Amino acid sequence: MWHLNIPAKVRIFAWRLYMDAIPTMLNLNITGIHVNPICLLCNDGVESVDHAILKCNIASNVWKMWDDCPISLMGNNMDIPDLALEIMHQGTQRDLEKFFGVAWRIWYNRNQVLFEANGISEAHIWGAAIRMIEDFKDANGLKINHMRDKKDYWEPPPVGFYTINVDGAIPLANGHSGIGVVVRDSDSRFVAAMSLPHQGRYSVEETEAAAVEQGCVLVKELGLEGVIIESDSLLTVQAVEANDVRGVVGHIVKGIVQSFCSFQESKIRHINRTSNKIAHELAQHARRISESVMWRMEIPDYLPEPARSEGAS
Ligand SMILES: [Zn+2]
Repeated sequence: MWHLNIPAKVRIFAWRLYMDAIPTMLNLNITGIHVNPICLLCNDGVESVDHAILKCNIASNVWKMWDDCPISLMGNNMDIPDLALEIMHQGTQRDLEKFFGVAWRIWYNRNQVLFEANGISEAHIWGAAIRMIEDFKDANGLKINHMRDKKDYWEPPPVGFYTINVDGAIPLANGHSGIGVVVRDSDSRFVAAMSLPHQGRYSVEETEAAAVEQGCVLVKELGLEGVIIESDSLLTVQAVEANDVRGVVGHIVKGIVQSFCSFQESKIRHINRTSNKIAHELAQHARRISESVMWRMEIPDYLPEPARSEGAS
C-alpha cells in the first residue's frame, strides 16, 4: 500500500480503513463512546466501516459510477482489505489508487453532511475524487517511473531449474475458486499446465496460498528438483519466506514449507501480475470447469494470445 501514488491524507485514510479504525458510529461505540450506532445518513443499518464506505446509499451510488471497475464491489461479503487485495489482483495499481481516493471522498462527504450540513451530489463526489487522484499523479508523474523495480514480463529460470507459476482466482457469483499452475523449463518450454477448480468459497489470501500449495503438489508428481515458484501474491510469498504460520493461511503455509524442504533446491519469489499471465488465465479457466484439467508438454489451446506468447522468444 505504501507504493501507492496518492496524497498523504488519502494514504493515511487507507491505512485507517485497513485497520478498521475510522470513527464510524459503530466504531465509536466499540471504543466506549455511547452513541446510537445507526447510520445518520440513511438511518438504515449500523454504521460500520463497510456500511459508511460501500453500502450506505450515497456511497453505493458513487461506486456505481465506476464503469470499468475490475471487480464487483457490491454483492459479495468481502471487507475492505480483501476488496483492496482483489482490486490489485484483478486490476492495476491505478485502480487501487482510485478505490482509496473515492473512499476518502465518500468519508469526507459524510463528515461534511453530518458536521456542516453541506454534502454534494454523488456525481460530484466521484468527479472530485478522480480529479484529486489524477492531479496528484500528474504532479508526481516523474517519480513513479523510477519506482518500478520488478520486471513486467516473464523470464525463464536458469538451466536445470523449473519455474512454476501459480495463481488463484476467487469465485464468480455462486461459483467456486480457481487455481492455475504452469511449469516451464529454462528454454521456456511447457512442461505441464493445470486448471484446478477449488471447491468452496475462499478468501483471496487462502486461494493464493492454496495455489502455491498445488504448485508444490504438481512438482512432486512430476518428480522435479530445482524449482522456483512464482506467485503474484506478496502476502503468500512473504508468509512462506518467513515461515509465518499464524493467520488463516497458516496451515497451508506450513504444508508449503514442508514441501520446500523435500525438494533438492527450491525457492519462492514474488512477481508482477503482468509476468504471470498464463497462470492467471489458467486460474480464471478453473472457475468455469468442474473437474481439473492438466496439459503436458503443450500450451492449452484456449489461452488468449497475450498469455500464450508470455516468455516466448
Ligand atoms: Zn447509511
